[in-house]
Amino acid sequence: MKVEIVAVGTELLLGQIVDTNSSWMGAELAAAGLDSHFQTKVGDNPARIEAVLRQALDRSDAVICCGGLGPTQDDLTREVIAEVMGVDLVLDEAIEARIRDMFGSRGRTMPENNLRQAMVPVGASPIPQQPGTAPGLVCPVGDKVIYAVPGVPYEMKEMVTGTIVDDLRRRAGEQGVIASRVLRTWGMSESGLAEVLADRITELDDGGDATLAFLASGVEGLKVRITAKGVDQDDVVAKLDAEEAVIRPLLGDIVFGLDDDTIESVVLGRLRELGLTLAVAESVTGGYMAGRICAVPGASRVFRGGVVAYTPEMKRSVLGVPDGPVVNDDAALAMAEGVRRVTGADVGLATTGVAGPDSLEGQKPGTVYVGLSLPEGYESGSQLFRMPGDRERVRQFTTISLMNLLRQRLG
Ligand code: ATP
Ligand code: MG
Repeated sequence: MKVEIVAVGTELLLGQIVDTNSSWMGAELAAAGLDSHFQTKVGDNPARIEAVLRQALDRSDAVICCGGLGPTQDDLTREVIAEVMGVDLVLDEAIEARIRDMFGSRGRTMPENNLRQAMVPVGASPIPQQPGTAPGLVCPVGDKVIYAVPGVPYEMKEMVTGTIVDDLRRRAGEQGVIASRVLRTWGMSESGLAEVLADRITELDDGGDATLAFLASGVEGLKVRITAKGVDQDDVVAKLDAEEAVIRPLLGDIVFGLDDDTIESVVLGRLRELGLTLAVAESVTGGYMAGRICAVPGASRVFRGGVVAYTPEMKRSVLGVPDGPVVNDDAALAMAEGVRRVTGADVGLATTGVAGPDSLEGQKPGTVYVGLSLPEGYESGSQLFRMPGDRERVRQFTTISLMNLLRQRLG
């Protein structure tokens, strides 16, 4: 079963947006064991879209075409697919009603333009998931198929995981189910991970029930993804459990969570279990850490607040950092203690350092000190990290490194 991806949109060619949809779909297809040999980008031009779709159908069994399903004149995907199928477009009343409802529920009336989105090529069927106004379509062409999905990433993703991957696997005659589990880690480099898991990967290559892959994801951690195939859901879960049981001991304490866990959600959960509250004092991360923490539902039960103390004066006047340098161990710990005092929280965390590109207090960009002020019985103190990369990566790596350090010290 060969599957191609076609991304439609002139903005993709002009570099105004990056084609993350194709990359994401490529990863999903690979994880599902489906071959995908070509990805094409094409502008909003009917003749060229048609040529690309015909070529794709020629050399592959299925095509996923994303973008151009909107309500405006330059959204041409529906018309072109009807042309390729050799059929007319007809109004689908169920889709029309659904789009009218969506506008109605927001107290607006549907612009006539949106009726275009309810036009479906004869013989095509709508994809059940429809998070936005644009319906996705399954369009048979002989014994092949074109799937049309919207360009908006979350709409596309719901349709691919909800319908398309299963449909492709059925067409490929694949029995059973495929599933994956992500172990989120922090504290070892990608090459370090590869080394630790090298023997296991060789064993699996020689005939195992699972495959392993790594993905570095910034503040989301370094992910180890286990993928397995099974005859049914129970079987595949058993295989994932078995593989997790093999690699966890190899990875040790660097695993902080599974699947959708984040370092913040894990740490907040642990603090809640222990009945402890949290506050942060941020210099180099400038509020980024507080932002990540507040994105976790229920954060208010644990998080008291934070102080962005960017200048030395702020560090001294608000947090009580003594005179002297503000990018070192002592300053980091004083900031953590200060924010604990100011907020009354049980745990104070602090970041101070050099985000770059310029040096500060004679220290190189990427030099970061974190401070942890913890209650009796836990280890308080500060630590130096040397981060790679640009400002954004320094902010992300500082946040996950400090939160991970807290996780380890809470036990
Ligand atoms: P809509 O009905 O929402 O307009 P559409 O199918 O017409 O959906 P497009 O107009 O092509 O989709 O794209 C809508 C938005 O989705 C774009 O502005 C862009 O932000 C995003 N997008 C489109 N294609 C891609 C892509 N290949 N990768 C990442 N994002 C994309
Ligand atoms: Mg559009």
